[in-house]
Amino acid sequence: MSDAESLMLRRAAMAWLDRRPQDRVDFRWLASFEYDGQRIPLMDRQRGIRKPAGMSAALAIRTTFTPPGQMPPYADAVGVDGLQRYKYRGSDPDHPENVALRQAFSAKLPIIWFVGVASGWYEPIYPVWIVGDAPRELEFTLALDHAQRHFDETEARDPDYRMYMARLTKVRLHQRVFRTQVMLAYESRCAVCNLGHAQLLDAAHIIADGQPNGEPVVPNGLAMCKIHHAAFDSKILGIRPDDLSLHIRQDILDEVDGPMLRHGLQDMHGRRLMKLPRSRRALPDSARLHARYEDFLSA
Ligand SMILES: [Zn+2]
Repeated sequence: MSDAESLMLRRAAMAWLDRRPQDRVDFRWLASFEYDGQRIPLMDRQRGIRKPAGMSAALAIRTTFTPPGQMPPYADAVGVDGLQRYKYRGSDPDHPENVALRQAFSAKLPIIWFVGVASGWYEPIYPVWIVGDAPRELEFTLALDHAQRHFDETEARDPDYRMYMARLTKVRLHQRVFRTQVMLAYESRCAVCNLGHAQLLDAAHIIADGQPNGEPVVPNGLAMCKIHHAAFDSKILGIRPDDLSLHIRQDILDEVDGPMLRHGLQDMHGRRLMKLPRSRRALPDSARLHARYEDFLSA
């Protein structure tokens, strides 16, 4: 298959992924992709890399899921340039999987990265380009975005530029995986009011991103509707760690206004969180809740 043909297939696969029924995908669904009347599964069940017959470059890579509370393997693999790194398979640069990834690098072909979000479930990140190969460090450099793809070495001397690259990595990878994992843990319901419309929900951080313990892991997250997320972040709403009860700031309790204020905020005062994960490991972390509540009380 020529590079041009390979690119066409990749574009078709990515357009098909755009139409996926939900954010996360599983092996079975990925096996149903068809191109030119042919079934071409997008994931290899045995291997971490997918390279269909007749193709020399990798089409997709896969990272298995990390249980809540543990850091996924890619989490601390962001370079000083802000770009994501991806470890070689094994320590042999000429392992067939590494060769197939290198082929995608030299032919500038986009790949799909399936990042595990739960057992058997993946968040597809695409298009991803391989923009660097470091045999000594046994890793590739990935671009998760067009701006990263056209990474400028000269501009990279500017710390703001590197910070911008790192922010893109967070948005395109870490925050998306975090959101999907939090939505799964909370079954797409607001922890505060139980609202169950994914479009109206966010994955809120207990400890803000960038702070110590602010990692994008489920125990540092809470599914919250837009209003409650904003109320939580602006210290209108606090969560008492001891009994997971909700507290509304006094000046808001004293206010007189319409139904959103009354039912959406004031009525929440003293109630307990309505929705929590079933898995203990996914529950909001008590130490983080304590730190956050202290901050709320200081408002
Ligand atoms: Zn809510």
